[in-house]
Amino acid sequence: MATETHCPYCSLQCGMRLTGRRAPEVSAWEEFPVNQGALCRKGWAAAGLYGGRERLTSPLVRDRETGEWSAVTWDDALDRVVAGIRAAQAAKGPDGVAVFGGGGLTNEKAYALGKLARVALGTSQIDYNGRWCMSSAASAGIRAFGLDRGLPFPLADVEETDVLVLVGSNLAETMPPAARHLDRLRARGGRVVVIDPRRTPTADRADLVLQPVPGTDLALALGLLHLLVAAGAVDEGYLAARTTGWAAVKESVAPWWPERVERVTGIEASQVRELAEVLAGSPRVMVLTARGAEQHSTGSDTVLAWINLVLALGMVGKRGAGYGCLTGQGNGQGGREHGQKADQLPGYRRIDDPAARAHVAGVWGVDPDSLPGPGRSAYELLDACGADDGPSAMLVLGSNIVVSAPNATRVTERLEALDLLVVCDVVMSETAAIADVVLPVTQWAEETGTMTNLEGRVVLRQKAITPPSGVRSDLEVIAGIAERLGSTATFATDPEEVFAELGRASAGGPADYSTITYDRIRDEGGVFWGGERLFASSFAHPDGRARMLTVEHRGAAEVPDDDYPVHLTTGRVLAQYQSGAQTRRVRDLPDGGPFVELHPLLAGRLGLATGEAVQVSTRRGTMTAPARVVTTIRPDTVFVPFHWVGANRLTNDALDPASRMPEFKVCAARLAAVGRG
Ligand code: SF4
Repeated sequence: MATETHCPYCSLQCGMRLTGRRAPEVSAWEEFPVNQGALCRKGWAAAGLYGGRERLTSPLVRDRETGEWSAVTWDDALDRVVAGIRAAQAAKGPDGVAVFGGGGLTNEKAYALGKLARVALGTSQIDYNGRWCMSSAASAGIRAFGLDRGLPFPLADVEETDVLVLVGSNLAETMPPAARHLDRLRARGGRVVVIDPRRTPTADRADLVLQPVPGTDLALALGLLHLLVAAGAVDEGYLAARTTGWAAVKESVAPWWPERVERVTGIEASQVRELAEVLAGSPRVMVLTARGAEQHSTGSDTVLAWINLVLALGMVGKRGAGYGCLTGQGNGQGGREHGQKADQLPGYRRIDDPAARAHVAGVWGVDPDSLPGPGRSAYELLDACGADDGPSAMLVLGSNIVVSAPNATRVTERLEALDLLVVCDVVMSETAAIADVVLPVTQWAEETGTMTNLEGRVVLRQKAITPPSGVRSDLEVIAGIAERLGSTATFATDPEEVFAELGRASAGGPADYSTITYDRIRDEGGVFWGGERLFASSFAHPDGRARMLTVEHRGAAEVPDDDYPVHLTTGRVLAQYQSGAQTRRVRDLPDGGPFVELHPLLAGRLGLATGEAVQVSTRRGTMTAPARVVTTIRPDTVFVPFHWVGANRLTNDALDPASRMPEFKVCAARLAAVGRG
């Protein structure tokens, strides 16, 4: 008997069938609409998450003096965790304890974690690694549309557009089953435009490829809107009826003539004009952004600039057109809706909204005044660890911070400065390795829970196999800690029960799950919160209109100079996922380790050939990896994948002022051929 469930990895949440109670076998689930049986290499190899000898099955505590680990009982481990929490609270008050979650946690876990923080711990200090994934697009969506749902339409709508513009998305490599939509779009005569400093496999499916200097996508959007205004291609009727702020935006793009855009972005003015002509003549235009455009200190303004462009063309709300963000992590969408983000309560409610606090406190059975206010964003929270005014104890679920945080050497030092670091994980990840207590938990097919995919479709990951003895679910860990802390609120451990409570807590909020049930998800192949397509007749602001907001090009926080003369950008490869804690341990996935991708012109100056060691340095750190010399990258830019320790020792922790997104995608670097100086 096969169990219908979903892939353990990215935001597409491809449907798959699993058979076998101990070692699962993956087979296609053709009826699931999102992927129709197709999986990428990671999905087909997902069963390899089981059977490895590295799986943790006993709680572990580390002796700080000797560094040695000892296996302990669950009671002993949880007692030690709670004793450390109490000590931190006694020294610093409730905010002396922090919680760090992840965009791969189920909705149920994200919800329970937020409740643990606000009710049982009373701390405001909770955030999660999703802050580093989609927060710039989320911030822009809320400001422009009054609502953030990554794609406000099914992904398959891509096939219905006339021009698809992908800004900073390597969709063909990061979620290959989605690439068939590009093929079908082109088969019916539509065009695909790819904007990326690297010519990725996605560009192989494009009709037009623009390779801007990293960190200049915003200027390109301003320049395109300038040309659309000049061509009389904007939809004045739509702008008058459905938006506010157009006059100021129109004025703001006036100075962005194509030659100025060329100077800033490195894209020839003729190419900028060519794209503007394509956009101006197309009845349906769709712009999708991803991390390449968003992971910048100007990420939310960059997304706003692209939203302004599609609004000016009258595209948002039109079928087969509009704007969307291609979310990255498996539950990147749901993870930001139900309370593990520093400024939110379940249902995408704001924690500083008195009505929201009263509603959620009612569901939790506590006094609204007892709920803390907003806390620090993810990087700021980590940066404060061990500081006089920062937390001295932290609980981490679903995140491998040591690999995935920007400026990772500093962040690791801050984690080591804590009096207590507790990590829940399935293997001894790089972050678990520096913890005081490691709690072994269930993963993926061993447990049931919902995920919300990149379309806002809530799907059900169903338990398919028996977990190893000795492990507990994250929900059980959360309940165990809350109980030991003497919390009067109840913490259910059955996922369906938690989901029903989440539904009540989200009722009436922007992301309202109150009518979604496990049975409906099973019967309907997933359920879209808010409806399948949004914004057809109105936006989520009180007056129903979208906000057009003026934004200015500022450029990257760090630009090349004599000491650090090239741009460094980071990203993913097909066979690995995020920090690699899971995929690097799957035998059927190739793990070639990190590499440094660079152009032959740059390699020639350094006397480097493919395979030779190259050292990459920034103002924050250094790493060494083999060179990969390719003609597909800009000569002034190098690329390093971030699935291994190293890349994020280099990245910049400059933050976007609105979203608090770090600038993962660009910083200044210098290279040296190892052994040649
Ligand atoms: Fe699908 Fe993403 Fe899993 Fe690949 S990693 S099978 S694209 S959900």
